[in-house]
Amino acid sequence: DIAAYRAKAGGRGRAEVFDQGLREELRQRAVVESGLAAALSADELELHYQPIVCVDTGEVEGYEALLRWRRDDALIPPDSFIPIAEESELICEVDAWVLQRAAQQLALWTRDWHRPDLVMAVNVSGRHAARARVIADVADAAQAAGIDPARLVLEVTETAMVDDPAAVVHLSELRSRGFAISLDDFGTGYSSLARLEQLPLDILKVDRKFLDPDVPSAAKLLPLIVHAGHAFGLTVVAEGVEHEHQLATLRILGCESAQGYHLGRPVRATDVRPATAGRQPTSPSGLPQAQAAAP
Ligand code: C2E
Ligand code: MG
Ligand code: MG
Ligand code: MG
Repeated sequence: DIAAYRAKAGGRGRAEVFDQGLREELRQRAVVESGLAAALSADELELHYQPIVCVDTGEVEGYEALLRWRRDDALIPPDSFIPIAEESELICEVDAWVLQRAAQQLALWTRDWHRPDLVMAVNVSGRHAARARVIADVADAAQAAGIDPARLVLEVTETAMVDDPAAVVHLSELRSRGFAISLDDFGTGYSSLARLEQLPLDILKVDRKFLDPDVPSAAKLLPLIVHAGHAFGLTVVAEGVEHEHQLATLRILGCESAQGYHLGRPVRATDVRPATAGRQPTSPSGLPQAQAAAP
């Protein structure tokens, strides 16, 4: 591989630059691969929870579990280690751990807050979804926690489903067992509307770029995507709500649920404000109050 890099790099000076970059990349990879496996058993992984809110009422409907790695007092974000974990079967162990933990947390909140309707969304990597074990990993997590399958939402990206046909087979099986399937980051990558009909889905999660005023055509495409989701019988969740005006837009479009820093940042379980039954307290504007901001 190093030879290939050298060949691509051309001149000797460039080859050295490439070698350095490659060395650093390989070093990081090794650190993540060995460290992450140990972190799993050493309790260095932790889940943060971000609320998913009903656009109309402001009520917290559920949470998305988001993984962090606490290492030498630093909190490493998932984008720094999940892609590396996804290059080996290690991601299956990571996902299985997250499923167990998140389901247990949901069971605790259900009991403490009397919220048998609360849902938990968990990200499932494409590699994991493509393995037959994903069915047992998901089912066992729900069963161990005593959670009804319908309250566990499996978030999978379109790329993950398209890359390996086995993923669609496994997700179809999980869906037939009552688990909810959500298409994450919709509109990134090679999304196609026609695919919405073929995939085993309950929820369409619109990527946050469609709420970004700096992304060309985002404002024009958002209504089309929400409409398409509804046309295919899906519940639509918008990611990346950072301002009240975006929530107002979503309300007009009939988008059911929303998630974003304006509604609550991902925080540790102990910092999540109890989402007890009924309408959440609203601000004077009538819009839901943001949850406790992350430190
Ligand atoms: P995702 O599933 O699309 O998760 C949403 C990401 O957007 C999260 O980043 C969240 O913190 C961030 N976010 C939420 N609201 C806002 C907002 O208003 N503005 C902006 N700019 N960002 C917002 P995070 O936690 O860094 O996670 C990144 C990605 O890592 C996730 O994207 C997911 O693909 C992956 N990931 C996280 N946890 C897991 C896990 O347990 N298993 C697997 N396989 N992947 C995970
Ligand atoms: Mg997600
Ligand atoms: Mg997403
Ligand atoms: Mg994402």
